[in-house]
Amino acid sequence: MAQTRDFLLKQLNERQKAAVSAPLGNALVVAGAGTGKTRVLVSRVLWLMLVENIEPRRILAVTFTNKAAGELKERLAALVDARSAAAIWSGTFHSICLRLLRSYANQIGLKHDFTVMGRDDQHSLVKRLTKEHGINLKDRRLTEKEVVEKISRFKGKGQRAAEICRQIHSDQKEETVATLYAAYEEECVRQDLLDYDELILKTVEMLRDHPELRELQHSRFAEILVDEFQDTSTLQYELLKLLRGPDSHLFAVGDDDQSIFSWRGAAVGNMQSFAEDLPGVERYQLSDNYRSMQNILDMANVLIEQNHERIMRKVLTTSRGQGEKVQICKFQNVSSQARFVQGEISRLCRDEGCKPHEIAVLYRNANVSLECEKALAAAGLNYQVFGGQKFFDRAEIQDAIAYLRILVNERDDSALMRIINVPSRKLGDKSVETLRLCARERSLSMLQCLGVLMQGAAERDAGAEVKRLAHKFDSFYGVYLKLRSLRDRACSLTSLVRDVLEQSGLIEHYKQLDDKNDAYKTGNIRHVNLQELVNHAERFEQENSELQAAVSLSDTAVDGAKPGSNDMLTAFLSGMTLRSSLELNQEGQVLTAEDFVNLMTIHSAKGLEFKAVFVVSFNDSILPSMYATQKLNFNLSALDEERRLAYVAITRAQDRLYLCYSERMPIYGQWQDASPSAFLREMIDPYRRKPDKDRPFVIRLPDYE
Ligand code: ATP
Ligand code: MG
Repeated sequence: MAQTRDFLLKQLNERQKAAVSAPLGNALVVAGAGTGKTRVLVSRVLWLMLVENIEPRRILAVTFTNKAAGELKERLAALVDARSAAAIWSGTFHSICLRLLRSYANQIGLKHDFTVMGRDDQHSLVKRLTKEHGINLKDRRLTEKEVVEKISRFKGKGQRAAEICRQIHSDQKEETVATLYAAYEEECVRQDLLDYDELILKTVEMLRDHPELRELQHSRFAEILVDEFQDTSTLQYELLKLLRGPDSHLFAVGDDDQSIFSWRGAAVGNMQSFAEDLPGVERYQLSDNYRSMQNILDMANVLIEQNHERIMRKVLTTSRGQGEKVQICKFQNVSSQARFVQGEISRLCRDEGCKPHEIAVLYRNANVSLECEKALAAAGLNYQVFGGQKFFDRAEIQDAIAYLRILVNERDDSALMRIINVPSRKLGDKSVETLRLCARERSLSMLQCLGVLMQGAAERDAGAEVKRLAHKFDSFYGVYLKLRSLRDRACSLTSLVRDVLEQSGLIEHYKQLDDKNDAYKTGNIRHVNLQELVNHAERFEQENSELQAAVSLSDTAVDGAKPGSNDMLTAFLSGMTLRSSLELNQEGQVLTAEDFVNLMTIHSAKGLEFKAVFVVSFNDSILPSMYATQKLNFNLSALDEERRLAYVAITRAQDRLYLCYSERMPIYGQWQDASPSAFLREMIDPYRRKPDKDRPFVIRLPDYE
């Protein structure tokens, strides 16, 4: 035992040790960037298992990304047997809620094979409902996006449509949103669709309204751990409190200075109320930064000092040494900035032994990456983009997913409408609308209604009208029946996905489009993207087969929840929707390959670290965003959040940091003169009177040199 303890505590400093080996109880670790919070969380999980002898399936670890959950499992697997590592419940809030809801679907009146829908689906649904209700959004000064966001915000606060409808007075805009919210809710129930926010809200309601299920979790989860606690939303915090029983504990780690998701409803105030909400909370602080050289930390410290809303003042220090000076680089325009970034990356790899994957180019908005992408591609450097256009959001991939979705959930009208005429089966909007109305009248889904229609048309005394309508859908229904029998006979997920793509006609359809559009020139070859989906299924299958066996075993032991049929396909589909765009590259892969430079939005870089970091387009109107600067008149907190974003970017760097801005750049589509970010000035100003040697940075003009 003493040996295990020593081993677990060996690579930790005194403060980290205190947190990792804390007696069982509620605990909050608040500490700055790179001080080892995530390391403490992982070590604590091990400590609980190996020293406190808590069964792995009684530990729940909530991480911010699925990628982080994977890393946690990997580290555990290296130290304990694979089965124990797999038995731990770890994942994002969304994936954990999904798992709970699937387990208890029957008890709460939900179909086991419900579909998780992404943002795109939400938009299509709102668009359709708007049309059906004869609403003109423009007249009401609204957009679909706003409606989706408002619904998301209501759900984030736990407010259902009925409550919102009761609250409206005479405001037309509010009334429209409430009407659409009610219709949206009704439609989701009818089709068994759950959006991201619904995953959390439904789980909260389930635990609140079903004491027996709540108590089951209380007896199951002895220890709940949460990383990046500062970005937990109010509803997610509520969920944690419901999951925690009288004898179980919450161990949360976070940094208020890195709260960057308040636009998604995260509430840093949760950190403040933690100690009041839970009994006997012990607080721990970590101080030493192990990630960055001191020059980088000096810049970060000066910057974050300007923030108004800080819970705890922290000054980051390291014993790693001063290191290279931070380079503040000014460029004439974004193209010369991109050329510099490319040249410097090549130099770092050639002369300084840097590996491409140890380098990151970070930016505030995804659309800023294009110039850098072009320069890297021209120089033959491999790169992968995170947080930009999501692989799974591409039209061809969405089509493929829709075909798979109707095979899992025949009530999924949204998916059906997407592909009923793709590839073209000469179906007019009118026929589809007739089918929809028929289905609605009979309280059936469109696919169910189609089945009834086909049967009716085959009967001898069928009317001409029925026959005519059925005839129109013949081709689609034939394809559907073929796919359904493929599903029932498929020996693996991979072969099913491959067959569905071929037999639905999608591959051929996109091949023809690619030929027509000369896609080979642009490199965006859509039928090849579809092929990548098959590869993705194969990877998924490999990763999950072993894990699922272990997990379902340990789960059934607790509550008898049995995995349903088609589980692999269902899990594959929800997994794809759940993987946030933040953590995927363009090919839909999560792994950071060795020879790829990382291009990512700052939001996606959370929790990560790189030897060299380039923050590009560090300009006013970009970082801080124009929105935040305008809001400044009446509210400082938007600007504070942008500053935290810059702080997160800076603190990702281990050895080298480049802060780049250009004097001309496209802002919202128009070339304009641009000023350096106000944050750059904030970092430089305190050193104005100091000699160069005492400054943590140098100012360079690479394209003027
Ligand atoms: P962030 O705020 O960015 O999420 P963090 O506080 O979670 O950062 P970690 O990512 O856990 O910090 O640690 C930062 C780096 O420091 C990692 O490379 C980690 O392995 C290393 N590290 C942490 N603690 C120690 C230690 N005691 N000795 C050596 N290295 C350490
Ligand atoms: Mg961390």
